[in-house]
Amino acid sequence: MVAMKESNQPKYRRILLKLSGEALGGESGVGIRPEAVQDMAEQIREVRDLGVQVVLVVGGGNIFRGQRGSERGIERATGDYMGMLATVINALALQDALEKLGVATRVQSAITMAQVAETFIRRRAVRHLEKGRVVIFGGGTGNPYFSTDTAAALRANEIGAEVILKATKVDGIYDSDPKKNRKAKRYSQITYLDALRQQLKVMDSTAFSLCMDNKMPIIVFDLFRPHNLKRVVMGEKVGTLVTG
Ligand code: UDP
Repeated sequence: MVAMKESNQPKYRRILLKLSGEALGGESGVGIRPEAVQDMAEQIREVRDLGVQVVLVVGGGNIFRGQRGSERGIERATGDYMGMLATVINALALQDALEKLGVATRVQSAITMAQVAETFIRRRAVRHLEKGRVVIFGGGTGNPYFSTDTAAALRANEIGAEVILKATKVDGIYDSDPKKNRKAKRYSQITYLDALRQQLKVMDSTAFSLCMDNKMPIIVFDLFRPHNLKRVVMGEKVGTLVTG
């Protein structure tokens, strides 16, 4: 897919936005805060209104993480399935907020649950996008021991997204933790290899190698600043671009 040339046109035609579960929990990052979900939905509508095809992959860390469960005695695979179900709850929350803003959506789940979501079918997802619907992927990859970042990397490649936009609470990738080091430097662009060499944790290793092997660009940016998603989509230098 080619990026459009005119500066008043979006740079991307099809994007995959990865939202962590924590983003839905607002300040505390726990549970679901309707105001936080609403803010996100408004930013998503803004880019949808530009004609950009939008896919969302949502995490579940605001509700449950398999790893944390297993530290407390829950079998890892069971905990992971609990985490995947949590992502579907988040997907429904986002769907509700988007539809209230008049944005047509479909939720597709990697775990079959016909009453609440369509099952993930790649061609059907692409068709929804072509019709202008925002497609929300819940259920991660459908497999334990994976993450929703890996689901994002996988789905972005499958449905032909041009870029993964990873929404975080910081405005990009730094050479050290900006919360601990006031002199930490933000990269505006970095290669996959340099990010690996410097052990900058952009995503978990499975997700990251999927992106690197398939040359899928990643932009890490702060979604909590108003209109930031639109700025990224319009090609402004926001956050950090990870590329080959
Ligand atoms: N999970 C999983 N397989 C997947 C995606 C997610 O087992 O393909 C589980 C895993 O336990 C994870 C939880 O779902 O901890 C929530 O997802 P994640 O931690 O990626 O959410 P985020 O950190 O983005 O909120």
